[in-house]
Amino acid sequence: MEMSPHQLIQEQPPKPRPARPLMIVVSAPSGCGKSTLCNRLVDEFPNIVYSVSCTTREPRGGETDGVDYFFLSKKEFKERIKNGEFMEHAKVHGNFYGTLEDTILFAMEEGKHVLLDIDVQGVKQIRESLVRLDPRHPIRRGFTDIFISPPSMEELERRLRGRGTDSDEVIKKRLENAAGEMALASEYSFQIVNDDLEHAYHDLKTVILSGMGLT
Ligand code: ADP
Ligand code: 5GP
Repeated sequence: MEMSPHQLIQEQPPKPRPARPLMIVVSAPSGCGKSTLCNRLVDEFPNIVYSVSCTTREPRGGETDGVDYFFLSKKEFKERIKNGEFMEHAKVHGNFYGTLEDTILFAMEEGKHVLLDIDVQGVKQIRESLVRLDPRHPIRRGFTDIFISPPSMEELERRLRGRGTDSDEVIKKRLENAAGEMALASEYSFQIVNDDLEHAYHDLKTVILSGMGLT
């Protein structure tokens, strides 16, 4: 049976695609509440997906390979660096972390907004590589960088201890790194203080919705 072009369009509706897929990059000192805020965002918006990073750190209780991270040995990680597979990579708190370029491209080709939870060094590398891209390149157009700060260092330490996932030694290292990370907050286009969780989430949503062109 012959089909009219109208029938074809009705039977194969195109996938809805955001006009401008965002690459949302969020950094914060560890323990600040970044995962709490970002998890809420991906729960509320099914078209925002996490970029799953690679890491050489040990999985924490409850973390799953391929979901929370791709947990790699140092040897595997270094091979991927050598093969040029990472969009960015960095040593953070003594372990290697990195974003595979394919992870970002696949998500954006699917028409998703992709959310990267990465440290300040990784964001710097991405900024440096973006300037070499054509201004109309989807990754350059969709780049949205956000820094989340704690209300104070005392509160940051309370949250790290309250989370109960890290040893004293790890907490000490994360607090030592926090000051250096916070000194780079002004390099980000958007800064949010996570004091009251509802206020911080509202601010985060405002930035994202405006980037999507929805406000
Ligand atoms: P990060 O991902 O930045 O390392 P988490 O999201 O794991 O941090 O949060 C660290 C701890 O702080 C968690 O126990 C979380 O419930 C708590 N937390 C997050 N945001 C707030 C907030 N605004 N006020 C109080 N506690 C918070
Ligand atoms: P955690 O060990 O708590 O999961 O993460 C520690 C730090 O590593 C966080 O600041 C997080 O943002 C950062 N991180 C996670 N994935 C990546 C990544 O792919 N690249 C970079 N540069 N940092 C990452």
